Amino acid sequence: MDRFQHYIDGRFEDGAATFESLDPARGTAWAVMPLADAAEVDRAVQAAERAFVQGPWPGLTATARGKLLYRLADLVQAAAPRLAALETRDTGKILRETSAQIAYVAEYYRYYAGLADKIEGAHLPVDKPDMEVWLRREPVGVVAAIVPWNSQLFLSAVKLGPALAAGCTVVLKASEDGPAPLLEFARLVHEAGFPPGVVNILTGGPDAGRALTSHPLVAHIAFTGGPETARHIVRASADNLARVSLELGGKSPFIVFDDADLDSAANAQVAGIFAATGQSCVAGSRLLVQDSVKEAFLARLKAKAEAVAIGAPDRMETEVGPLCTARQRDRIVDLIARSVAAGARVITGGRAPAGAGFYFPPTILDCSDAPEAPALNEEFFGPVLSVRSFATEAEALALANDTAFGLASGVFTQNLTRAHRMIRGIRAGIVWVNTYRAVSPIVPFGGHGLSGHGREGGLAAALDYTAVKAVWLRTSDDPIPDPFVMR
Ligand code: NAD
Repeated sequence: MDRFQHYIDGRFEDGAATFESLDPARGTAWAVMPLADAAEVDRAVQAAERAFVQGPWPGLTATARGKLLYRLADLVQAAAPRLAALETRDTGKILRETSAQIAYVAEYYRYYAGLADKIEGAHLPVDKPDMEVWLRREPVGVVAAIVPWNSQLFLSAVKLGPALAAGCTVVLKASEDGPAPLLEFARLVHEAGFPPGVVNILTGGPDAGRALTSHPLVAHIAFTGGPETARHIVRASADNLARVSLELGGKSPFIVFDDADLDSAANAQVAGIFAATGQSCVAGSRLLVQDSVKEAFLARLKAKAEAVAIGAPDRMETEVGPLCTARQRDRIVDLIARSVAAGARVITGGRAPAGAGFYFPPTILDCSDAPEAPALNEEFFGPVLSVRSFATEAEALALANDTAFGLASGVFTQNLTRAHRMIRGIRAGIVWVNTYRAVSPIVPFGGHGLSGHGREGGLAAALDYTAVKAVWLRTSDDPIPDPFVMR
């Protein structure tokens, strides 16, 4: 079996304990992973704190930090095929997706490399003639970054890139499900030449997560995962009072009006829900379709869903691979059963196939006559689309916002004024109009409500890892006047 190591304080080391990682396509163990305990987490945080306070990291110019990030970007690009193969092996995400996504991850590092020396302070026209006042933007300190199993390289790039550009140091905890690509990525961090302790990468489960998020030296927790874990993390941050940014799940509405280009919308819907085997936070998992085109649209979707190539994730022709874990598949089976009991109708799919691996077919559930079906509110995080029909634009908007989540949304219409009304009305961090699932390092990404409250991507994400220091400098040579009068 392959073996992976932690990366702490510039050194690769075996974990305090180990566990076996399963190949989701076969359901069998393929690699031995380190499992961090609280003591290892503490060593990683101490290393990150030392690197933050002592040289050479704080002594590097922002431009020099940017150069290291450029180097890392080039290494990620060159290693993309190897990283993609590992991610596919360890998480079941199909090679077609991991290859394209990891090549694009390099662009995130490039974007933040360029941004490193463009994080500026400000000079303030203060209302006191003998004072110069300016603001410095300084890095907050040690960042605890925690990611789930899906797209770990991508989800860590949107944390590491801005945090390092801002001058922070990082302890990154990979998910205990499918950590191989991040543990391998640590080799690229090392090769790029980041000073020891600036980036530490380990894996472990909730215990390691708790030790990290409650550590007194952590200044910012950047978390991607589910809302339940997020609640634990917010409680843990009551100990260290760290800043917290949360990128959580979704039940994103995908709204199709009767004037939409149905073929284009159907392709976008297939990508929106079946890509990544549905294990995507922005999955367009709630189709809201206008009554008059419902049958025509569902017929197209059913045909496309049934034509999807399901198979081994490492074959380039595969379009839907296995889920990452058996636990994930069991959750989906349970949620479908509860929804069918509430009156939902299975249009296609709905049953896990027999045989090895954690496979589940593309599934469409019509919940139009089952408004209480949990499939309309709970996140599957799998290839299951819940459908509800509507009659009017006002109803579409009300249904779109009838959710505790608020991450993404899609609107398909040819009517420009209606598109603008929907853009204004939808409560979500992203509105895609006549497209779905587009991302870019330049564009902020995040949600509302149960979808969390951070924004990743773009300039604002780098500023999130800084704090403003106000500097007052007295320019007068006169003695300070009456000390008891506030100036
Ligand atoms: P999860 O919340 O179970 O786990 C995420 C991470 O948190 C893992 O690394 C896990 O080890 C760690 N963790 C678990 N318990 C912890 C604790 N008590 N303290 C600290 N860390 C702890 O999530 P998951 O099931 O692995 O991932 C799926 C979820 O992630 C879905 O809800 C999905 O929508 C969400 N997600 C969101 C985004 C986004 O950007 N908004 C992206 C991808 C996934």
